[in-house]
Amino acid sequence: MKTTPVEELFMVINDTAVLLQEELNVSYLEALAETGENIFHQSVLQDDLSELTLKRLKRIYEDCHITRYTKEEIRKSFQLAILKGMKESVQPNHQMTPDSVGMFVGYLLHKFVTKEAYRLMDPAVGTGNLLTAAMNQEMNKTIQGIGIEIDDLLIKLAYMNANLQEHPIEFFNQDSLEPLFVESVDAVISDLPVGYYPNDIRAADYQLKADEGHSYAHHLFIEQSIRHVKPAGFLFFIIPNGLFESTQAKKLHTYLQETVDIQGMIQLPETMFKNKQSAKSILILQKKDESVKPPKQVLLANMPSFSNGDEMEKILTKIDRWITENKK
Ligand code: SAM
Repeated sequence: MKTTPVEELFMVINDTAVLLQEELNVSYLEALAETGENIFHQSVLQDDLSELTLKRLKRIYEDCHITRYTKEEIRKSFQLAILKGMKESVQPNHQMTPDSVGMFVGYLLHKFVTKEAYRLMDPAVGTGNLLTAAMNQEMNKTIQGIGIEIDDLLIKLAYMNANLQEHPIEFFNQDSLEPLFVESVDAVISDLPVGYYPNDIRAADYQLKADEGHSYAHHLFIEQSIRHVKPAGFLFFIIPNGLFESTQAKKLHTYLQETVDIQGMIQLPETMFKNKQSAKSILILQKKDESVKPPKQVLLANMPSFSNGDEMEKILTKIDRWITENKK
């Protein structure tokens, strides 16, 4: 059977990552970041390798012509390799956003954000899979990306992903809830980290801080993002289904009413998640501005399985109709 370009490139990435992992005694994900750099620079950058490994690596890289692959082929090959690496180590809250969600968020961006050139931020950028998958759906627009991530290794993978796919993305390796030195953006997309934020002193700067004990990181992320988006800008968050049912939900609701218009809430297919409790939705918001009217009604939808073509088409038609009635 003929191998696809994604399989072919995955083999290059995987074989070289395994060689580097063994020789440098690092994790598979770390080796992946190294091989990504090598592929990008078209040379072997590690100087402490045995001659044999160096020779083997060079031979594999020489046969690989990265410019022959599309951005999506590159993203998907690395996605496969990152998934393999994540099985070894990563905690649930650091999970990469799946393909299908990234592409769907890209579709929503395309429908909601009409500017030809815009600034797009992901304050929990992780491996960059969500951000680059979405950007790849918007190829006819000029997007300046901004990615923020606290984890050094994940941001390395994101940086490598952006370089190889030739996306202009500025990266910041920091806690996104600390002050951000980023000019305001036109849109935010983010698969939010869910749970408690341990830094109460920092949380005190937020309206959405908890009255007692630790605050919810995901609430603070929403507030930080709203602060950094321009008036009339859009925000797309991947959130737990129970976001508006927690003990701190009332405060969140009041804050959202003051600052944004809720545009929609789209439930992702439950089959994508381990169980009902971990299922997620996409929350769509628009920052308030004199120029924008709140939608006549909020867009509510339950996504079918992304592989169910007929049902997908129905939902996409429903979204298109909603956009025509509410946004045009
Ligand atoms: N969309 C990402 C991708 O495709 O790889 C995955 C996002 S993952 C669900 C949430 C990310 O938030 C993790 O990578 C985690 O390290 C990051 N994170 C958690 N707390 C953070 C903080 N305070 N500041 C910045 N990033 C944070």
